[in-house]
Amino acid sequence: MPINDALQRLQRIYDLHERFCADQTFACRRGCAPCCTANVTLTTLEARAIDRHWARTGEKPPTARLQQAARHPRFRPRLTTNQLAAICAAGGEPPDEASDPAAGPCPLLNDTICTIYPARPFGCRAMVSHTDCARHGTADMPDRVLAANTLFLQFIEALDQNGRTGNLTDLLLWLLSGSTAPPTDLAANRTIPVLMVPPEHHTALLPLLGDLRPILADLTG
Ligand code: SF4
Repeated sequence: MPINDALQRLQRIYDLHERFCADQTFACRRGCAPCCTANVTLTTLEARAIDRHWARTGEKPPTARLQQAARHPRFRPRLTTNQLAAICAAGGEPPDEASDPAAGPCPLLNDTICTIYPARPFGCRAMVSHTDCARHGTADMPDRVLAANTLFLQFIEALDQNGRTGNLTDLLLWLLSGSTAPPTDLAANRTIPVLMVPPEHHTALLPLLGDLRPILADLTG
Protein backbone atom coordinates (compact mmCIF):
# COMPACT_ATOMS: atom_id res chain seq x y z
CA MET A 1 0.00 0.00 0.00
CA PRO A 2 1.40 3.46 -0.85
CA ILE A 3 2.62 5.20 2.30
CA ASN A 4 0.34 8.22 1.85
CA ASP A 5 -2.71 5.97 1.63
CA ALA A 6 -1.62 4.08 4.77
CA LEU A 7 -1.03 7.33 6.68
CA GLN A 8 -4.44 8.68 5.66
CA ARG A 9 -6.12 5.51 6.92
CA LEU A 10 -4.16 5.77 10.17
CA GLN A 11 -5.41 9.33 10.60
CA ARG A 12 -9.00 8.14 10.00
CA ILE A 13 -8.56 5.63 12.84
CA TYR A 14 -7.13 8.34 15.11
CA ASP A 15 -10.07 10.64 14.22
CA LEU A 16 -12.51 7.84 14.97
CA HIS A 17 -10.92 7.36 18.39
CA GLU A 18 -11.27 11.07 19.08
CA ARG A 19 -14.98 10.93 18.18
CA PHE A 20 -15.42 7.78 20.29
CA CYS A 21 -14.04 9.59 23.34
CA ALA A 22 -15.83 12.88 22.64
CA ASP A 23 -18.92 12.12 24.77
CA GLN A 24 -16.86 11.44 27.88
CA THR A 25 -15.13 13.73 30.32
CA PHE A 26 -11.53 12.94 31.08
CA ALA A 27 -9.11 14.60 33.49
CA CYS A 28 -6.34 14.56 30.82
CA ARG A 29 -5.09 18.04 29.93
CA ARG A 30 -2.12 19.81 28.33
CA GLY A 31 0.90 19.66 30.62
CA CYS A 32 -0.28 16.57 32.52
CA ALA A 33 2.36 13.97 31.68
CA PRO A 34 2.69 11.16 34.29
CA CYS A 35 1.75 8.64 31.58
CA CYS A 36 4.43 9.97 29.19
CA THR A 37 7.13 7.42 29.90
CA ALA A 38 9.81 5.75 27.78
CA ASN A 39 7.63 2.60 27.81
CA VAL A 40 5.33 3.82 25.03
CA THR A 41 5.01 1.48 22.03
CA LEU A 42 3.84 1.95 18.44
CA THR A 43 3.86 0.45 14.96
CA THR A 44 6.33 1.25 12.17
CA LEU A 45 3.57 3.15 10.35
CA GLU A 46 2.94 5.30 13.42
CA ALA A 47 6.68 6.02 13.61
CA ARG A 48 6.51 7.20 9.98
CA ALA A 49 3.60 9.49 10.92
CA ILE A 50 5.84 11.13 13.55
CA ASP A 51 8.61 11.47 10.95
CA ARG A 52 6.12 13.15 8.57
CA HIS A 53 5.17 15.53 11.38
CA TRP A 54 8.82 16.56 11.77
CA ALA A 55 9.17 17.02 8.00
CA ARG A 56 5.95 19.07 7.82
CA THR A 57 6.70 21.34 10.77
CA GLY A 58 10.44 21.65 10.13
CA GLU A 59 11.12 20.55 13.70
CA LYS A 60 14.31 18.58 14.19
CA PRO A 61 14.03 15.04 15.58
CA PRO A 62 15.53 14.86 19.10
CA THR A 63 18.15 12.34 18.01
CA ALA A 64 20.47 12.88 20.99
CA ARG A 65 17.60 12.44 23.45
CA LEU A 66 16.49 9.25 21.67
CA GLN A 67 20.05 7.90 21.75
CA GLN A 68 20.24 8.68 25.45
CA ALA A 69 16.90 6.94 26.07
CA ALA A 70 18.21 3.89 24.21
CA ARG A 71 20.82 3.45 26.96
CA HIS A 72 18.11 3.05 29.63
CA PRO A 73 15.62 0.30 30.44
CA ARG A 74 12.27 0.52 28.65
CA PHE A 75 9.37 -1.73 27.70
CA ARG A 76 10.15 -3.68 24.52
CA PRO A 77 7.16 -5.85 23.60
CA ARG A 78 7.88 -9.33 22.32
CA LEU A 79 4.31 -9.83 21.11
CA THR A 80 1.86 -7.63 19.23
CA THR A 81 -1.84 -7.29 20.11
CA ASN A 82 -2.85 -9.54 17.20
CA GLN A 83 -0.23 -12.13 18.12
CA LEU A 84 -1.75 -12.17 21.62
CA ALA A 85 -5.23 -12.54 20.09
CA ALA A 86 -4.01 -15.56 18.09
CA ILE A 87 -2.58 -17.18 21.23
CA CYS A 88 -5.83 -16.61 23.15
CA ALA A 89 -7.95 -17.87 20.22
CA ALA A 90 -5.89 -21.09 20.20
CA GLY A 91 -6.55 -21.55 23.92
CA GLY A 92 -2.97 -20.71 24.87
CA GLU A 93 -1.72 -18.73 27.83
CA PRO A 94 -0.16 -15.42 26.75
CA PRO A 95 3.14 -14.64 28.52
CA ASP A 96 3.26 -11.75 30.98
CA GLU A 97 4.77 -8.62 29.50
CA ALA A 98 4.94 -5.90 32.12
CA SER A 99 6.01 -2.29 31.50
CA ASP A 100 9.39 -1.40 32.99
CA PRO A 101 8.74 0.75 36.10
CA ALA A 102 12.33 2.07 35.87
CA ALA A 103 11.72 3.69 32.47
CA GLY A 104 12.24 7.43 32.57
CA PRO A 105 10.18 10.09 30.77
CA CYS A 106 9.36 9.79 27.07
CA PRO A 107 12.23 11.25 24.98
CA LEU A 108 9.67 13.31 23.01
CA LEU A 109 8.60 15.18 26.13
CA ASN A 110 9.81 18.75 26.59
CA ASP A 111 9.31 19.59 30.25
CA THR A 112 5.68 18.40 30.51
CA ILE A 113 4.64 19.08 26.90
CA CYS A 114 4.56 16.50 24.10
CA THR A 115 6.61 17.87 21.18
CA ILE A 116 4.78 15.82 18.53
CA TYR A 117 1.26 15.93 20.03
CA PRO A 118 -0.79 15.95 16.75
CA ALA A 119 1.18 12.89 15.56
CA ARG A 120 1.35 11.01 18.88
CA PRO A 121 0.82 7.26 18.49
CA PHE A 122 -2.27 5.38 19.58
CA GLY A 123 -0.51 4.09 22.70
CA CYS A 124 -0.58 7.69 23.96
CA ARG A 125 -4.09 8.49 22.69
CA ALA A 126 -5.39 5.39 24.48
CA MET A 127 -4.16 6.59 27.86
CA VAL A 128 -7.21 8.48 29.14
CA SER A 129 -8.46 8.72 32.70
CA HIS A 130 -11.58 10.01 34.39
CA THR A 131 -9.47 11.11 37.35
CA ASP A 132 -6.11 12.85 37.71
CA CYS A 133 -3.47 10.07 37.53
CA ALA A 134 -0.88 12.28 39.24
CA ARG A 135 -3.15 12.62 42.27
CA HIS A 136 -4.51 9.06 42.36
CA GLY A 137 -1.38 7.20 41.24
CA THR A 138 -3.20 5.29 38.52
CA ALA A 139 -5.48 5.88 35.54
CA ASP A 140 -9.23 5.41 35.93
CA MET A 141 -10.31 4.04 32.56
CA PRO A 142 -13.83 2.69 32.01
CA ASP A 143 -13.96 -0.97 30.86
CA ARG A 144 -15.81 0.03 27.68
CA VAL A 145 -12.95 2.38 26.70
CA LEU A 146 -10.38 -0.30 27.55
CA ALA A 147 -12.21 -2.80 25.31
CA ALA A 148 -12.46 -0.23 22.50
CA ASN A 149 -8.75 0.57 22.80
CA THR A 150 -7.89 -3.09 22.17
CA LEU A 151 -10.04 -3.01 19.02
CA PHE A 152 -8.27 0.16 17.83
CA LEU A 153 -4.89 -1.48 18.46
CA GLN A 154 -5.91 -4.55 16.46
CA PHE A 155 -6.94 -2.46 13.45
CA ILE A 156 -3.87 -0.18 13.63
CA GLU A 157 -1.62 -3.26 13.62
CA ALA A 158 -3.53 -4.88 10.73
CA LEU A 159 -3.20 -1.67 8.73
CA ASP A 160 0.60 -2.07 9.09
CA GLN A 161 0.56 -5.87 8.73
CA ASN A 162 3.96 -6.03 7.04
CA GLY A 163 5.52 -3.76 9.65
CA ARG A 164 6.61 -4.18 13.26
CA THR A 165 5.58 -3.12 16.74
CA GLY A 166 8.14 -1.89 19.21
CA ASN A 167 9.25 0.70 21.71
CA LEU A 168 9.06 4.32 20.51
CA THR A 169 12.77 4.95 21.09
CA ASP A 170 13.81 1.86 19.11
CA LEU A 171 11.46 2.52 16.20
CA LEU A 172 12.30 6.21 15.85
CA LEU A 173 16.05 5.50 15.96
CA TRP A 174 15.52 2.83 13.29
CA LEU A 175 13.67 5.33 11.13
CA LEU A 176 16.28 8.05 11.66
CA SER A 177 19.01 5.57 10.66
CA GLY A 178 17.58 5.73 7.13
CA SER A 179 16.94 1.99 6.95
CA THR A 180 13.99 1.03 4.74
CA ALA A 181 13.60 -2.62 5.78
CA PRO A 182 11.54 -3.14 8.98
CA PRO A 183 13.72 -3.95 12.01
CA THR A 184 13.71 -7.73 12.22
CA ASP A 185 14.40 -7.86 15.98
CA LEU A 186 10.99 -6.30 16.79
CA ALA A 187 7.61 -8.04 17.02
CA ALA A 188 6.11 -8.69 13.56
CA ASN A 189 2.65 -7.22 12.93
CA ARG A 190 -0.06 -9.41 11.48
CA THR A 191 -3.69 -9.47 10.38
CA ILE A 192 -6.52 -9.77 12.91
CA PRO A 193 -7.02 -13.46 13.79
CA VAL A 194 -10.04 -12.82 16.02
CA LEU A 195 -11.50 -9.66 17.52
CA MET A 196 -10.81 -9.40 21.23
CA VAL A 197 -14.10 -7.96 22.45
CA PRO A 198 -15.35 -9.12 25.87
CA PRO A 199 -18.93 -10.48 25.49
CA GLU A 200 -20.39 -7.81 27.79
CA HIS A 201 -19.18 -5.07 25.39
CA HIS A 202 -20.23 -6.72 22.09
CA THR A 203 -23.40 -4.71 21.60
CA ALA A 204 -21.97 -1.39 22.76
CA LEU A 205 -18.95 -1.68 20.44
CA LEU A 206 -20.81 -2.83 17.31
CA PRO A 207 -21.17 0.73 15.91
CA LEU A 208 -17.45 1.32 16.43
CA LEU A 209 -16.66 -1.91 14.62
CA GLY A 210 -18.93 -0.78 11.80
CA ASP A 211 -16.85 2.39 11.49
CA LEU A 212 -13.46 0.64 11.74
CA ARG A 213 -14.10 -2.16 9.24
CA PRO A 214 -14.44 0.00 6.08
CA ILE A 215 -11.03 1.60 6.76
CA LEU A 216 -9.40 -1.81 6.20
CA ALA A 217 -12.09 -3.22 3.91
CA ASP A 218 -9.76 -3.96 0.98
CA LEU A 219 -7.06 -5.54 3.15
CA THR A 220 -7.10 -9.10 4.41
CA GLY A 221 -7.70 -9.60 8.12
S1 SF4 B 1 4.80 10.70 22.36
FE1 SF4 B 1 4.01 12.54 23.38
S2 SF4 B 1 2.06 11.89 24.32
FE2 SF4 B 1 3.25 10.02 23.82
S3 SF4 B 1 4.38 9.49 25.68
FE3 SF4 B 1 5.74 10.76 24.39
S4 SF4 B 1 5.43 12.88 25.12
FE4 SF4 B 1 3.70 11.65 25.88
